[in-house]
Amino acid sequence: MSDSLPLPNGHWPALDPGWVWLCGAGPGDPGLLTLHAVNALRQADVVIYDALVQEDILSWAPQAEHVYAGKRGGKPSAKQRDISLTLVDYARKGKRVLRLKGGDPFVFGRGGEEAQTLVQHGVPIRIIPGISAGIGGLAYAGIPVTHRDVNQSVTFVTGHDQSGNTPSSLNWKAISEGSQVLVIYMGMKHAAQITRSLLEAGRTPDEPCAVVCSATTGDQQVLETTLSQMATDIDASGLEPPAILCVGRSVLMRQVLDWQGMMQGEAPRDVDPLGRGRPAEAS
Ligand code: SAH
Repeated sequence: MSDSLPLPNGHWPALDPGWVWLCGAGPGDPGLLTLHAVNALRQADVVIYDALVQEDILSWAPQAEHVYAGKRGGKPSAKQRDISLTLVDYARKGKRVLRLKGGDPFVFGRGGEEAQTLVQHGVPIRIIPGISAGIGGLAYAGIPVTHRDVNQSVTFVTGHDQSGNTPSSLNWKAISEGSQVLVIYMGMKHAAQITRSLLEAGRTPDEPCAVVCSATTGDQQVLETTLSQMATDIDASGLEPPAILCVGRSVLMRQVLDWQGMMQGEAPRDVDPLGRGRPAEAS
């Protein structure tokens, strides 16, 4: 066990041999790990991690074997079963198994499938939620996922399904009409198709949008654009996944809440992004 990461006093659960803990690692910044995740990292014999887990986080489990089980976005998920069965194998060998996944394990992360396989094989599990990129990643870009003057609902959407295509099960018209703010995961590859569907369904071309790449990491980049320009701007920018696409007026809040920019010395912009008055003035 590593002593380098003290946990506050308290009763932290033991990761017992033969158990698998499915744990979210957050969007990237190690500071966004939960204390349960740190507790798990300290005890694991083996950490089975996916492509979006930052290497620094693995160094918090120096005693453990580190096993990469990443999958590239959009590829058929033939390997998913192998990953789940690998977890079963390690558990049956009596290992303390930590399955570490980017963001939250149950948000577009196939955590539910892995957990189901484990349960079906009689392997005891614990689920440790994490901060999902669609919430925490936007916060690091200065975009509140809800804001009283903008939205009373938010819709999380995946930009591609198991076959790698834009999910055919999605009713873009209903989403377009019913979602004040959309947060799209895995949307880079099909950005043109997604934006076209939304425009055809009646969203306005100049609706504010943001593309937040490698959110919360040292490589974070944010592109501010509009719905009609988003796909073109993504192509022109050369930005790479992972990225969260956000469609909606909450993106405007970044004009005053880009705290990362301010930390780097940018002056706060003296604007009223929503035209509703400043909070102290508004009711
Ligand atoms: N379980 C994860 C999502 C896994 S799906 C979560 O809760 O965040 C993978 C997608 O998540 C990526 O294609 C991207 O859309 C998004 N994503 C994950 N980490 C990200 C990051 N640091 N920055 C931007 N997008 C990220």
